[in-house]
Amino acid sequence: MRLVLVGPPGCGKGTQAQLLVERLNLRYIGTGEMLREAIRQRTPTGLQAIPYMERGELVPDSLVNGVVAQFFQGDEKPIRFVLDGYPRTEAQAIWFTGFMHEQGQDLDAVIQLVVSDDEVVRRNSSRRVCPICQTSYNLVSRPPKVAGICDREQAALIQRPDDYEETIRTRLRVFHSTADQLVAYYRAAGLLREISTNAPIESIYQNIISSLPPNK
Ligand code: AMP
Repeated sequence: MRLVLVGPPGCGKGTQAQLLVERLNLRYIGTGEMLREAIRQRTPTGLQAIPYMERGELVPDSLVNGVVAQFFQGDEKPIRFVLDGYPRTEAQAIWFTGFMHEQGQDLDAVIQLVVSDDEVVRRNSSRRVCPICQTSYNLVSRPPKVAGICDREQAALIQRPDDYEETIRTRLRVFHSTADQLVAYYRAAGLLREISTNAPIESIYQNIISSLPPNK
C-alpha cells in the first residue's frame, strides 16, 4: 500500500498516519520531520530551509523533492508507505508521479482529510511536542498523563514556533493557495479519497480503510 495524506496542519494527519503505520505495517515518511532533522544536523538543505519554516511558508519544491529523492534512493528504500505532508503543491505532485513511476511504484490512494479553518486554529494552538522523542500531544484531545510532561521521556513539553496562532494563520493561507490545485490533480488521476475529520479518531481511520483499494 502506497498512500499520501493531504490536509491542513492540525487536521489529524499525523495521528492517522501513525495508525496506518502500526496497523498496515507501512513506513512513515514525513517531510516536515525530515526537514527539522536536516536543520538539527545543520546540513546545507536544512540551513536553506530554516527561513521558510520559521515564517510558516513552504520550502521550495526543488529542496523538498531533493530530500524525498534522497530518502527513496537510500539503502532502505520504502516499498509500502504513508506520506505525511508531501506532496504539498501540484508541482511536487507532478514531479513525484514521474519519480515513483520510474521506480515502478505508483501510488494507490491520496487521502484528503477535510476540516474547517477555525477548527484547525483551535487544534493547532493546543498542540505540544516532546523536545526529545518528538511525540505530539494535544491539550484538548490527546493530553499527556501529567500536564506539560512527556509520557515517555518525562521532559517538559514545548510549543513549536510553527504552532503559534499567527504562524498557523499563515500556514492555512499557504495551504489553501496550493492545496486546491494539488487535490484537483489527484482527483483527475482518480486517486483522491475525501474523508471528513468531524468524527472520532477511530471512525476516521475506519473511513480511510473503507476507501482504500482491496488486497494491497
Ligand atoms: P509539517 O511538519 O508537515 O507541518 O511541516 C513543517 C514545515 O516544513 C512546513 O510549514 C514547511 O515549511 C515545511 N515543509 C514540510 N513539507 C513540505 C513540503 N512538502 N513542501 C514544502 N515545504 C514543506
